[in-house]
Amino acid sequence: MTTGDRGELAVVENLARALKLPTVAAQAGPLSREAQAQGASYLRYLAAVLEQELLHREEASLKRRLKAACFPVTKTLDSFDFTAVPGLSKPQVLGLARGEFIRHKENVILMGSTGIGKTHLAIGIATAACRQGFKVRFFTVAELINELRAAHQENRLNRVMRQWLKYDLLVLDELGYVPFDQMSAQLFFQVVAARYERGSVIVTTNLEFGQWVEILGDERLTAALIDRLTHRAHILVLNGESYRFRESLKRQGVKTVSRTTEQ
Ligand code: ADP
Ligand code: MG
Repeated sequence: MTTGDRGELAVVENLARALKLPTVAAQAGPLSREAQAQGASYLRYLAAVLEQELLHREEASLKRRLKAACFPVTKTLDSFDFTAVPGLSKPQVLGLARGEFIRHKENVILMGSTGIGKTHLAIGIATAACRQGFKVRFFTVAELINELRAAHQENRLNRVMRQWLKYDLLVLDELGYVPFDQMSAQLFFQVVAARYERGSVIVTTNLEFGQWVEILGDERLTAALIDRLTHRAHILVLNGESYRFRESLKRQGVKTVSRTTEQ
């Protein structure tokens, strides 16, 4: 590089910084040497520099979205062994990972016994959503309730609810482990009702719908909640005994199973 080139490079670096293009500033020099060595055209060089800027920006924004999502652990669908859950449709899960359900403001319910992989799948699908640029937030149901109760006490419930509507996808993990008191049940209902047709939710639960009333305590509220949640929902049952489980869903008159298979 000649002295003249170095002077030009310094100008480019300063301009790039002023324009808030840090990767252009960092890569303009190294890539110009490469371009010269390869005899690449001006346009080819410019494209390479701008491409680096875009790649770095996308990486940084993905990192931000993943951090903001507050996943408790890192899980991807790549590491999920679909053969371990024979009743589960891999194409359906991969379809969900493409994010169409989020664009359509649909929900996903992952039902099954403890340890079957519900949280793994929920995080895997939600991580794929982050990759596509969706804003995601993960909560355990217990965390969500704690946050809501604190917000309610401090008179900022509406603000928190509005804030959560900015997320394209909420993951509510582990419905069924902690029974709600009346107020918690109503707060939980409010979250689901507020998101109805406005934003997607993934719920994981170890309970069949017929058992939700035991957690929520109130029959009418439970029915209203299930109705909103399952209207346009993808219900994935993860169970070794899926036949019996599905049969029991049918016995409870859950029409949502056929809604799922329609999609
Ligand atoms: P659940 O939420 O249904 O209780 P988890 O998703 O927490 O279960 O799964 C328990 C552990 O087993 C996690 O570490 C998860 O990554 C792993 N796991 C469960 N099912 C699978 C699977 N089919 N393939 C790979 N890992 C799995
Ligand atoms: Mg779990």
